[in-house]
Amino acid sequence: MKYEGMIYRPPSEANSLILQVAVGCSYNKCTFCHSFQGKSFRIKSFEEIKEDIDEAGGYGRIPRVFLADGDALIIPQEDLVKILSYLKLKIRGLERVGIYANAVDVLKKSVEELRELKELGLGIIYLGLESGNPEVLKRIKKNATAEQMVRAAKRVKEAGIILSVTVLLGIGGVELSRAHAEDTGKVLSEMDPEYVGALSLMIVPGTPIAQAIESGKLVLPNPFELIRELGLMIANCRFTKCFFASNHASNYLPLRIRMPEEKERALGLIREVLQKNDPSLLRPEYMRAL
Ligand code: SF4
Repeated sequence: MKYEGMIYRPPSEANSLILQVAVGCSYNKCTFCHSFQGKSFRIKSFEEIKEDIDEAGGYGRIPRVFLADGDALIIPQEDLVKILSYLKLKIRGLERVGIYANAVDVLKKSVEELRELKELGLGIIYLGLESGNPEVLKRIKKNATAEQMVRAAKRVKEAGIILSVTVLLGIGGVELSRAHAEDTGKVLSEMDPEYVGALSLMIVPGTPIAQAIESGKLVLPNPFELIRELGLMIANCRFTKCFFASNHASNYLPLRIRMPEEKERALGLIREVLQKNDPSLLRPEYMRAL
């Protein structure tokens, strides 16, 4: 398999074969994101992709494939159809293909086009909401509004594809912490995804958000303030059926919550941790990672 630069994939795709069909992110301007800095975006040619699929065809059974890089759903429909069809033909035991997308990529496709991709094996789309608060989305230069995020989520679900949404604790700073938590909970509820992953903002030197912190424009919440933010977000979430996880390595309080059944239990636990205010109950700083 040929990979260009660092490869990123969602934690739940740890056992998947990563097939790099595009290099970088077509947008690449979110102020907190370092993932594809220095990579100029390009979609790989079908010949390059075909070579990798042919090689993977000799590995044996591969139940899951993840299409990298940052927003591979931007690939034109006919090319994605070609890639998915060839995967289906060559990979034994293939059960699900996953992909990163942003809301704009999703909205460029019709429900029928998304359904066509689903028929060919696209089973899950990972979408970064980061925040449901309009001011936070503007400050972090996200390329979609909350309203576009909701429309994109509804389209994915209408096509029968599983939706996994990521949000970022701390991204509004101390100033917008409450508004960020409440609005994110509300927008997540409207999106009503099958999975939510809450990560804590980790600062990477050289990113615009790191400069905002250095200059004092953005003040990050402390660990207990982040947990309060998580609680407020969860309190504002109303899902049909969702698995909400804050167990990513960046978080101080790892939780795995089946919603709606376990929501009150999780809120009780968060209240207890906040009341005790004991740092030994949190994941130690040295164990946190991107
Ligand atoms: S759209 Fe995603 S991958 Fe691209 S810059 Fe923003 S966060 Fe990074």
